[in-house]
Amino acid sequence: MDNRIVFPQLIGNNHLKKIMGTDIGRGNMGHAYILEGPAGSGKHTAARSIASALACTSAKDSTKPLPCGTCLACRKIAGGISPDVFFIRREADRATLGVDAIRKLREDLYIAPNENEKKVYIIEDADTMTVQAQNALLLSLESPPPYVVFLLLTENAAALLETIRSRAPVLRMQWFGADALAEHLKQESRFAALAQREPDFFAQAITAAGGAIGRARQILDRTSEESADYLSMRDDAGRLVTLLFFPDYPGAAELLRNLPKDREEVLSLLDMVLLALRDLAAVKKNAAVPMMFYLSKDACRHIGDKVSIARICAAQEEILLARSDIQSNASVYTTCTSLLMKKH
Ligand SMILES: [Zn+2]
Repeated sequence: MDNRIVFPQLIGNNHLKKIMGTDIGRGNMGHAYILEGPAGSGKHTAARSIASALACTSAKDSTKPLPCGTCLACRKIAGGISPDVFFIRREADRATLGVDAIRKLREDLYIAPNENEKKVYIIEDADTMTVQAQNALLLSLESPPPYVVFLLLTENAAALLETIRSRAPVLRMQWFGADALAEHLKQESRFAALAQREPDFFAQAITAAGGAIGRARQILDRTSEESADYLSMRDDAGRLVTLLFFPDYPGAAELLRNLPKDREEVLSLLDMVLLALRDLAAVKKNAAVPMMFYLSKDACRHIGDKVSIARICAAQEEILLARSDIQSNASVYTTCTSLLMKKH
């Protein structure tokens, strides 16, 4: 078991691989696990790897990777056509995952697996389950049929009911420092070529990804508008940080005018600001940690040298407060204006 390749599709995450590899190898699977990590951190890849490892017909052959990726069961799961792996997600226009979806799941639960030993239910954005939905799920978590495994994917496990968390260990997805992330991606030839051709864009994308490998890939691939959006949001976040500390710096009015219309996007912007503040605090404390927002420690010191650690902490609190105000439906414009107009 020790030298076996576990979850070859999933980069890094040795802690998770060790736990799951051991649980699956010993036939010792729990009934539920929570996979926690930001968007693009590999939760889906991990969930599919777990489901495949449970179904893989070569699972007992320790000379092969777990899952092997080539047997019929593995291929069906990779292709999204396994009759024993279910994705439960909220409808596109809904903010929450309601109790109806969980009731439907519960009706299906007691039907034995079609072809695999286990039935795997993957609940996406599990923290968007209503309390009613979570309580309905809890009934299934307490005494599920022996062949059932639940995987709850979430950006924030703390947002789940304590009763759910007490029945499902939390597996945190690994965050990568910029260097490790760049190294991993450069193993793919198209990214290695890109890093050669456009070193600045490559470096920017890596840092903009904030340690999430899927997000880095999206930005680098420029497959969607997401790439351009990301880079422009990054610029805005950088400007916002500057304005927080130096309110006289030009550009506040323009920034406020061009704030994203979408509330979720404003929250992402503030999250990015938090990453930048975290970098600033780390550099002030001489902590040996990778930068999550700034391209280098030197770029970070450029601002860091001019502000005190107390001021950085205060700014973090202001951003967190603004974040929660916006989440509770306060006006985005008013909240951000007062953020920038604070006298220090
Ligand atoms: Zn297989």
